[in-house]
Parts: sequence; C-alpha cells; structure tokens
Amino acid sequence: MRRKVAAGNWKMNGLRADLAELATLAALPPADCDIILCPPATLIAAMAAHSGQIRIGAQDCAVAASGAFTGDLSAEMLADAGAGAIITGHSERRALHGETSDLVRQKALAAHRAGLVAIICIGETEAQRDAGQALAVNGDQLAASVPDSAGAADTYEPVWAIGTGRTASLADIAEMHAFLRAELVSRFGAATGNAMRILYGGSVKPGNAAEIFGTANVDGGLVGGASMKAADFAAIIKAAG
Ligand code: PEP
Repeated sequence: MRRKVAAGNWKMNGLRADLAELATLAALPPADCDIILCPPATLIAAMAAHSGQIRIGAQDCAVAASGAFTGDLSAEMLADAGAGAIITGHSERRALHGETSDLVRQKALAAHRAGLVAIICIGETEAQRDAGQALAVNGDQLAASVPDSAGAADTYEPVWAIGTGRTASLADIAEMHAFLRAELVSRFGAATGNAMRILYGGSVKPGNAAEIFGTANVDGGLVGGASMKAADFAAIIKAAG
C-alpha cells in the first residue's frame, strides 16, 4: 500500500507575508498522507521552523555540494536550511533553463546524497502528445532522469498540463501511470517498482483532486497554483488522505 503524497510548488511566488498560509496548513489535524510544500528557497528556513506535519521542500538544487557556483544552492545547503525534499527537473526548468534528463538525474543524486527525497518530474509537451509520442517521451525521460539508486521514498510526476488550468483526462492519466508503473517494475523489480510513488501534476484543484487521486497508480499530486491558497491545498490534502 503506497501512502499518497500531496506536494505543493509555489514556484517563484511567496514573500514572508505569505507565511500565514503555512500557519493555516500546519494547524490541520494529522493527515493520512505525506504533505510536502516547496516555497522559494528564501522561505525554507522560516517555514521549516513551524511546519508541523508538513515537510518543506526546495524547487531545485545544484549538482555539487559546494564550490564556485555563484547563485546556486546545494542540496546540503537546502537540507541545512530545513528542506526535506527537492523537486528536480520541473518542466519549467527543463524548458526555461535547458535542463536535460541527465542533469535532472545528477540533481536527484545530489538530493539523495544530502538525505532528501527527490521529486523527479517528467512530462511530454502538447505537441509531443498530439504526435502520439507521449508514452515514448515519458519512457525516455523516466529512464534517463531517475537514478539507479532510486528507492521507495522517491516520487515521480508526469507533467502534462502545468499552470494551464487544463487537466489531462482520467483515461490519459490512467494510461500514462500504468505505463510508468510497468517501466519502474521492469527496471527496479516488483518490490521496489511497486513501492515507488507516481504523482500526477497539472492543474490539480480541490474540484478534481479526488477523482485524479482515485485513479489507479496515481499516488498523489504535485500542485502549483492551488497550493498557494491554504484553503485550496487543505482540500487537496483531504482528497489525498
Ligand atoms: C506544477 O507546478 O508542478 C504544477 C503542476 O502547476 P499547476 O498545478 O499550477 O498546473
């Protein structure tokens, strides 16, 4: 039985005034799912000090542990600030920063080196889906982005509809997640492959979370916009468990 994950990604949004949203979430009764909230790095330490059952995460990390990499933050630094997870390979970083699956894999390894959960994102573009390439693209990204050392604590996200307000159909989600599960089992064996959690990401909202999370092989979600409002994210957490 895989425990579901409700993960929030604030992207480049959030000032100290927004810590009130976390205070509301931290006061929720114990949930029967894992909750991760990834604010901008500037808020990690302040959030981690008062996050209760919520694991605070980062949205990216450098590959190296330290060194002459001006402006970058290592997984060790993020862990030191209080992070317990790192998103790697979000589609915005792949598209806007040219991150390749090989770099994403190295960043996931850096997260593991620092003892953190890696939320490894994969996903096809609309053009690739329209061209019938969705399964192949995700299969390739999964193979190249997930390190050999990945274990049951890792989570994966097919990103199809980020920030667009459009959600993939339940049939498309079910098809993709069944495919990803089969790929993981084939690579890691039944015990580990069936224990890994596969999250759906792309315009998850309070109104659609329950049906998405009820789909086979969907073990929770990575939520952008709706995680910024405590009331909306609380409803999504409730749908996850
Ligand atoms: C995301 O940032 O990973 C995401 C899925 O965003 P949204 O929920 O806003 O589509």
